[in-house]
Amino acid sequence: MNQLAIHNPATGALIAELPADDATSVAAKATLARAAQKPWAATPMAKRQACIERFKAGVLAELDELAATMTRETGKPIQMSRNELNGLIARIDFFIEEADDEQATETVFIDGSMTEQIEHTPLGVIANISAWNYPWFVGGNVFIPALLTGNAVLYKPSEYAAQTGLAIARLLHAAGVPEHAFITLIGGGDVGAALLAQKIDGLFFTGSHATGARIMEALGPRMVKVQLELGGKDPTYVCEDANPKTAAESLADGAMYNTGQSCCSVERIYVHESIHDDFVSAFVATVKTFKAGDPMSADTYIGAITRAPQLDVLEAQVADAKAKGARLLTGGKRLPGPGNWFEPTVFADVSHDMALMREESFGPIIGIQKVTGDAQAVELMNDTRYGLTAGIFTRDEARAKNLLDQVNAGTVYWNCCDRVSPRLPWSGHGDSGVGLTLSTYGIQAFTRPKAWHLRQP
Ligand code: NAD
Repeated sequence: MNQLAIHNPATGALIAELPADDATSVAAKATLARAAQKPWAATPMAKRQACIERFKAGVLAELDELAATMTRETGKPIQMSRNELNGLIARIDFFIEEADDEQATETVFIDGSMTEQIEHTPLGVIANISAWNYPWFVGGNVFIPALLTGNAVLYKPSEYAAQTGLAIARLLHAAGVPEHAFITLIGGGDVGAALLAQKIDGLFFTGSHATGARIMEALGPRMVKVQLELGGKDPTYVCEDANPKTAAESLADGAMYNTGQSCCSVERIYVHESIHDDFVSAFVATVKTFKAGDPMSADTYIGAITRAPQLDVLEAQVADAKAKGARLLTGGKRLPGPGNWFEPTVFADVSHDMALMREESFGPIIGIQKVTGDAQAVELMNDTRYGLTAGIFTRDEARAKNLLDQVNAGTVYWNCCDRVSPRLPWSGHGDSGVGLTLSTYGIQAFTRPKAWHLRQP
């Protein structure tokens, strides 16, 4: 049997070896999920909701241990692991509350003997291939509404968050979700690829653009519903009327939280020339307060880089920025191991010919660029192939709305950043993906509307 070795990215130590799937076991699991889907869909909504309610109670009861598991396998600072689990609870509440309404059959027309109805049927068996950076959030955005609406789920957690994936399955099953209505697949890209080869009714993916593009190519000819939540290069513009210190503190957190390994991390900052220098000094001062160290310590802010190869990406961006004339203000290199560590890094005097301002960094590194005004800022914000989030700091609401209207992104922020709400849709424009999760639309995404034309005899 295949084995998946799990290493602690903060120490390099081997922490577990898990039995992994192969093409044969993936096919067998897909057959089991298919058989389990119809009975699960036939289970009344109230019972499905009760299962997810019990799952929530299970997460709360084990929150500290689940946070420690996630921190050990991803290097995420422990307080941020706890924050993620607490945040998940609010999302679960939202999904449970809204699921009923979203799946109820709608009568949209009655005239004499004729009635028209829309029924919201489950997609069927859905595959969820997931990322490691927020395994509870990005997984939960899919498998919770999918299960509530009567789908069976084949869940492939990232190979960097596989123990968390197994904990999710254990808690769902303990809560009453039938064993084969939620099945976990353990392994890397080969297991993900084997999953794509199965008969599935929907593919919900969170991960990099490169993998997303491969998935789209593999599934395109098969007409399977595909949703891809991919990377970003999220910009923020700080106007001259903003408070430079307040904006700097918020954006330093937005850039470096989770060691910069968030899909909606602030990855580019444009600052009006009249407050640029004040903003930059406040930003660097804030970053210098961020403590790097043992992710299990409650006061650690900068944790490990989860995937070792990302260190090469960060190093290459630093070298490229320096070679093209950027000014390094703090950080700039790996921290000594064992494990995967990178200093929080801030550059000023950057430009769009640098990889730092064009390619997703996915680490604790940021470029700050001086701009002359709104027109230049909007042009630079839109100069990207991505479009996940974008923000503006200004005192002027009308100006913010006008500028954010012109920015190509699925989510926009006024005087805030790096924020996700269960009540709002989460979607990317351009190379940030297709489809959406969260909000009531993110429940409907797991159903297929069926049109009923009913004439009484
Ligand atoms: P990744 O693309 O390397 O891996 C994601 C998943 O795809 C993993 O489970 C992996 O095993 C699987 N996979 C790899 N190759 C495959 C293949 N050929 N076929 C099928 N599956 C395959 O991404 P990652 O490193 O896990 O995650 C980081 C990326 O995810 C970043 O780009 C980040 O921005 C993005 N992300 C986006 C969102 C969002 O909501 N838009 C949220 C979190 C992360």
